[in-house]
Amino acid sequence: MRIAIISDIHANIEALEAVLKKIEEIKVDRILCLGDIIGYGPNPNECISLVKEIVDESIVGNHEYGVLGRTDLRYFSLNARLACEWTRDVLTEENLEYISELPVNLIIDDMLLVHSTPHLPLEWNYILNIRDAVYQFMILEQKICFIGHSHEPVTFIKNERGCEVASSRRFIIGEGCKYIINCGSVGQPRDYDPRAAFGFIDIDKGEVQIIRVPYDIKKVQEKIIRSGLPRFLADRLSMGA
Ligand code: ZN
Repeated sequence: MRIAIISDIHANIEALEAVLKKIEEIKVDRILCLGDIIGYGPNPNECISLVKEIVDESIVGNHEYGVLGRTDLRYFSLNARLACEWTRDVLTEENLEYISELPVNLIIDDMLLVHSTPHLPLEWNYILNIRDAVYQFMILEQKICFIGHSHEPVTFIKNERGCEVASSRRFIIGEGCKYIINCGSVGQPRDYDPRAAFGFIDIDKGEVQIIRVPYDIKKVQEKIIRSGLPRFLADRLSMGA
């Protein structure tokens, strides 16, 4: 089975459409979404509609929780809070209902999908380094865990030597190893590469890839500025930061 993993779309419809076009080219059996469909960007309703139509299953992210009032917005940065409040005002009732029903995690075969961390996922902690990963590997029951949240593509591997970061964004799953894989963000990359990012796994071949796709950044930036969202949210897209 070939699966595309998309995460952190953040209401960026141009990035989402570009990624879905690429996914169509590489041909997959399923598309899974790891949450944060909304927040930061100018097209939350359009992104939710497209996810509902195209994606097989999605889980919830902290931005959905923020918009729904389930996570206190005081824990968000100022720009994230302003974007959550803006998003809450523009979302349709139908789309609010859709995000309110998204599950916190999914287990498919020997894979866990969760927006933040295997342990206490609703605390919205990050896995940013080996130290964070070592702790989460102690909790992780599955062989592979896909996460989003930090918007930084990275793979942590637990093997007989301990825990390390994968040196390549294309690799083969090894026997006796466990993996925590962040495929990066569709709509707001933060690894200084402004192209949209998504993940791909071929379960039968054991192959994983993190794939980048260019999209029309300028168009999104203009919409962000016109919509009254913080200007910083437009500027950061061209830096990929
Ligand atoms: Zn996010």
